[in-house]
Amino acid sequence: MLKVQGLRAGYGAINILWDIDFQISEGEIVAILGSNGAGKTTMVRALTGMIRPSAGTVEFNGEDLAKKSSRYILEKGIVQVPEGRQIFTEMTVLENLEMGAFNKKTREAFQENLKTAYQRFPRLEERSRQAAGTLSGGEQQMLAVARALIGMPQLLILDEPSLGLAPNIVDDILQVASDMARKDNISVLLVEQDITKALACADRGYVIENGRIALEGSSAELSANEHVKKAYLGI
Ligand code: ATP
Repeated sequence: MLKVQGLRAGYGAINILWDIDFQISEGEIVAILGSNGAGKTTMVRALTGMIRPSAGTVEFNGEDLAKKSSRYILEKGIVQVPEGRQIFTEMTVLENLEMGAFNKKTREAFQENLKTAYQRFPRLEERSRQAAGTLSGGEQQMLAVARALIGMPQLLILDEPSLGLAPNIVDDILQVASDMARKDNISVLLVEQDITKALACADRGYVIENGRIALEGSSAELSANEHVKKAYLGI
């Protein structure tokens, strides 16, 4: 469903991503792995229209989205949970979730999707009237994921969901990502620095180093790869 070829992007005159090729099928969980500054977030920005690629194609369900606006890309079903969550702290949990319904289709389906989101994250229902800024870090991440689900994604991009969270909460969030992929056929692009957790959850992965794809393979292949073990897993 998503096929990226020859993607180049950066900031002004500085190019960060070099000829990135990767793909995701329907219902697949794909991890993008790499250390600080490797270019993962830049890749997410290029896929979601927040920066314009200087070369390459981002084919999504047969249409090239490489030069499209972020609004257009969102309408097509690529929804992102940004790094750092970016929830509206002064607004209630429910109001934040309402912000996820960004067009007619998602507004019409809001009540039904809200029910599903609350089933997945019962804590959010208990706290629906509470200001989002008063939630714990883990709950805020759950809210950010739930808000993305209200947007009815075909492809959900999770950018560093583990950042600053306790390991058991990260497991809960990755479990929801797995459920969405397995039960609802949503594709998940998981951008993570916690490589052990990412590979435990994903079907396949790509390792980015210095803005290039250095390695790709199934999660089992990457976990067994000597370079991955040494450089990222510390074993
Ligand atoms: P992290 O895990 O630390 O977020 P990352 O793999 O997501 O790392 P990026 O944020 O994509 O890395 O950064 C890749 C490179 O792009 C870095 O060298 C960074 O300094 C540079 N960069 C990121 N944002 C900008 C910007 N707005 N302007 C200029 N350079 C930037």
